[in-house]
Amino acid sequence: MPILSLKHISKRYGAIQALSGVSFEVPKGAVFGILGPNGSGKTTLLGIVTDVLKADEGSYSLFDAPPAASLRRQIGTLLETPNFYHYLSAYQNLQIAASIKQRPETDISRVLGIAGLANRQHSRFKTYSLGMKQRLAIASALLGDPEVLILDEPTNGLDPAGIAEVRELILQLAQSGKTIILASHLLDEVEKVCSHVAILQQGKLLLSGPVNEVLAREDFVELSAADN
Ligand code: ATP
Repeated sequence: MPILSLKHISKRYGAIQALSGVSFEVPKGAVFGILGPNGSGKTTLLGIVTDVLKADEGSYSLFDAPPAASLRRQIGTLLETPNFYHYLSAYQNLQIAASIKQRPETDISRVLGIAGLANRQHSRFKTYSLGMKQRLAIASALLGDPEVLILDEPTNGLDPAGIAEVRELILQLAQSGKTIILASHLLDEVEKVCSHVAILQQGKLLLSGPVNEVLAREDFVELSAADN
């Protein structure tokens, strides 16, 4: 059963065609990378499947069913940097997040543990490293124990240590059975973290499938050369 299935999704902003007829499926248990340069339509695509934006054409299903609010509760999202309070602790910040998202407060210790932040949960957010801040953002997306996580450029703006920590956390979550969909403009990141990839260029899907198969294709070499 695919977790997400897109059929001919198109979206335009005025004269800009952000997505043109994009179709692909995300299998259960995948770490699915949406790879493409800036402006290729990654954020627009994630916006559509999280119901922040409406597609002009096409349709998609979640868990093999039409998208419904009840299914959306099974999806945790990190689409932009959360507004955490610098003078509150990680725990207090997640209390606020749990209240806004209507997730049980009893879940906070669990997600802090998964993100490796249990021993610093009472430290103020402002004392956190970049990697810890982003791990807290992922912990917040994990409140309520969703089956799927959708992350937009999760390592953007981090230092090398933070990038390594966040990639490690993503791999750990995948091992625990979560399906993860992430946007990235870094081929290197997709190779290190993802099992599957869909490559977007100027709003069109160029290739998709298991990472090892896609990267082994002859036409992939030309394509990555054209992107850089
Ligand atoms: P980035 O990594 O820079 O966010 P992206 O691959 O996520 O890039 P999108 O942000 O989806 O790409 O943008 C796709 C295209 O749509 C780009 O040409 C962008 O300029 C345009 N676009 C995105 N949002 C809007 C908007 N609200 N109004 C007008 N054009 C937009």
